[in-house]
Amino acid sequence: MSLSFVSTREGVRRSLPAALLQGLAEDGGLYVPESLPRFTAADFAGATTLTAIAERYLEPFFEGTELAADLAEICRETFVFPIPLTAIDRGNAAERLFLLELFHGPTAAFKDVGARFLAACMSRLVQRDDDEPPVTILVATSGDTGGAVAAAFHRRPGFEVGVLFPLDRVSPRQQQQLTCWGDNIRAFAVHGNFDDCQRLVKAAFADVQLGTEFRFSSANSINIGRLLPQSVYYAHASLLHYRDTGKPLALVIPTGNLGNGLAAVLARAAGLPIADIVFATNANRTIPDYFASGQYEARATEPTLASAMDVGNPSNMERLRFLFGEVDELTGLVSAASVDDAAIRTSLKATYDEFGLAVCPHTATGFDVWRHLAEERRTAHDWAIAATAHPAKFETVVEPLLERPVEIPPALAALLDAPASFVEIEPSLDAFKSALRGAR
Ligand SMILES: *Cc1c(COP(=O)(O)O)cnc(C)c1O
Repeated sequence: MSLSFVSTREGVRRSLPAALLQGLAEDGGLYVPESLPRFTAADFAGATTLTAIAERYLEPFFEGTELAADLAEICRETFVFPIPLTAIDRGNAAERLFLLELFHGPTAAFKDVGARFLAACMSRLVQRDDDEPPVTILVATSGDTGGAVAAAFHRRPGFEVGVLFPLDRVSPRQQQQLTCWGDNIRAFAVHGNFDDCQRLVKAAFADVQLGTEFRFSSANSINIGRLLPQSVYYAHASLLHYRDTGKPLALVIPTGNLGNGLAAVLARAAGLPIADIVFATNANRTIPDYFASGQYEARATEPTLASAMDVGNPSNMERLRFLFGEVDELTGLVSAASVDDAAIRTSLKATYDEFGLAVCPHTATGFDVWRHLAEERRTAHDWAIAATAHPAKFETVVEPLLERPVEIPPALAALLDAPASFVEIEPSLDAFKSALRGAR
């Protein structure tokens, strides 16, 4: 018997591999595990590396499925870079503060974890047959997702990726990360905004004629295959800390679509030694407003300095409410605070001045929320702030504020040196169709 994944809407049920291939359930809902495993720290005895902890944590979700035998290898393919919990020197403050560095992957943001895991699973699930066309993954991106998906599928036999991004609306370094791959990755620069990109992807999936020419699949952020492995880095960090100190670790998590935030809540619900969890949002304050008022109101998205968190209607809220209940239950489990652009600037500078740490604007929201925690709450735990991206990826925001250059990590530097290419298209399905066909 394998664990079922159930949709948040009409209760459609699937095994993990089927849910992962499907992405969105046919009833329009998002897949969640029907039940969570209950671990204790002792269940992880002997497991010290990310890969070993990933295998134990993920095993109950894979048990009895066609991917079970491959789980160890999938974890080894995914967790190829370190995700360290580094102590921040705060002099002789009693409680400790840590940075959970999620940005050491090939595209310097945490999305590498979910994208690599999904790619490793999908490449084992999709039957390869020389008579069949490759699977074409289409992904619309406002910045970080497209690069992570491209990196994860680059040179994977049997797969092609089409990345659609809004021309002139991503940072120069982000654009480079979307367009530098070549081989089986194609980039399409859309004359429009992110919503146009998403609309084109949906229209392509729905187009009957294209469906006879391509085998489409998606890798977007609501896929359960991206969410599950993200719990692993919280499991790893909290276990190492617990072994070291006997204390659970409290977390501040910068979040937008709530994927990263939900992953931490799931890890704690599965028994990992995690104390408080606080979500940090930017000026898009749908989540903190819901927790304060009890009324969920989706908002129009507002552009901010922490652009990867510009989400007015976080998709994973549907999962959180389905799994854990409405506002009365939720506010007993997590809290949330919003940080506007002025406070992001202040926090970025203060984090550098106090700790000598250059952080990205998303991570700066986390530091601001940590600084504004009530004194007794802040001193009750050791806290870790999730660093969602490397500051060099957002240098146009960070460098003017710190008045110094930010060092570029080697993996990112390699991508910045690679030759780029992309095709510009008008935001119409016809234009996208001919570009897709021309790209083959
Ligand atoms: C995607 C992203 C976020 C937001 O993550 P969610 O899972 O949507 O909450 C935060 N920071 C960076 C750098 C990102 O790329």
